[in-house]
Amino acid sequence: MLKNRVAAAREFLQSFAVDAILVSDMKDIRYLTGFTGSEALLLLGGAEIFLLTDSRYTTQAETETSGCAVVEIKEKKAALAALAASEHFGSIGFQAERVSVSLHNELLQQMPDVRFAPMGAELASLRIIKDVQEIECLAKTAKLASEAFLGMLETIEPAGTEKDVSLRLEFALRTAGADDKAFDFIVASGQRGALPHGRATSKTLCRGELVTIDFGAVVDGYNSDETATIAIGKPDAKQREIYQIVKDAHDMALDAIRPGVKFCDIDLVARDYIARKGYGDYFGHGLGHGVGLDVHEKPVVSFRNEDVVQEGMVFTIEPGIYLPGWGGVRIEDMVFATADGCRLLTHVPKDLTVV
Ligand code: ZN
Ligand code: ZN
Repeated sequence: MLKNRVAAAREFLQSFAVDAILVSDMKDIRYLTGFTGSEALLLLGGAEIFLLTDSRYTTQAETETSGCAVVEIKEKKAALAALAASEHFGSIGFQAERVSVSLHNELLQQMPDVRFAPMGAELASLRIIKDVQEIECLAKTAKLASEAFLGMLETIEPAGTEKDVSLRLEFALRTAGADDKAFDFIVASGQRGALPHGRATSKTLCRGELVTIDFGAVVDGYNSDETATIAIGKPDAKQREIYQIVKDAHDMALDAIRPGVKFCDIDLVARDYIARKGYGDYFGHGLGHGVGLDVHEKPVVSFRNEDVVQEGMVFTIEPGIYLPGWGGVRIEDMVFATADGCRLLTHVPKDLTVV
C-alpha cells in the first residue's frame, strides 16, 4: 500500500520538475510512511525518502516506517540544508499551504542555491481515493462511534445538560476503543440548534426540544463524522415537518451518489429540495466533505465543486435547516462511493428518535 502511495507522490517530482518534495503536513507524512508522531519533515527524492525528526521520535519512526532513512535532527532548517547538499537536491517542491511565509524566507536564506517550487494540495489529493485498508479503518471507526452513540442515547434524560451528553458520548467512544474524539462534539438543543456549530454548553435539555449532536471518533488515525438530531419528548408538527424535509433531502442526495456524478449536482439535489420546501435561506453550508486522516478533507461536496464522484471516495452528506429563534435539524452520514452507488459507513438510524 505505502509503496503505491509513494510511487504516486513521486510522479509530482516530474510534473513540478524538482529533485525532491518537502512534505510538512503530518497527515500526508503518515499517509506516505506510516509514521504517527506529531513532528517531522519528509524529504521525498527520486530514489530515497528521508524522515527528519528529533530524538523524541527516532525510535518510533524506525519502528513504524520501512523504506525510509530516519534522520535525527536538532534544527530543521540546518538539517534540511545539509541533506539537500549531500543529496545534491538543486530544487525542492514544498506544500505552499503548509509552509509559513517566514519559514519560506528562512529556507531561502539557509539554502540560497536551492530552487524552492511552491506546490498546491497535490499530496492531499492523493488521499482522495481510499484504498482497501483505509476503507476498513474508516468503516471500523464509524461503526464504533455509531454504536457508542446509540448506547449513550439510552442514558439521555431531560434535566441533563449539553455538556453531560458530550461527556457521556466521549466516555462511551473511548470505552469502546476509540483513540480520541475526532473534534469537540456539537450538542445544540432547543433554539441553540440554529447554530450549525454550537459546541456543548451548560444548558439543560428540556422536554419539547430537538437536540443536534455531531460527533466522531478517531481509531488508528482515521476519523468518523456523523450527526443525529433527536427529540426530547414528543415532537410538535413543525419539528416533524422540518425534520422530514432534512431527512428527505439527505435521502435524495444519497440516492444521487454514483461514480461520474458531479459533487455540485449532488449538493443541488438536497439544496433544491430544501429551497422548494421554502427553507432555502436556512441551509447555508455545503452538503458535505471528505473524511479520512483529517475530519475535513477532499472532496468538498458543495455547489462550487465540479469534480465527479469516483469509486473509493469517502465523504459526508449533511443537509440542515437552521431557523434563528426556533432551532435546527442536521442529519449527517458518512458514505463510501462504490461502483454503482454508495454504502453507508455510519449506522445511527436517521428516522426521528424520540427519547
Ligand atoms: Zn459532523
Ligand atoms: Zn461533517
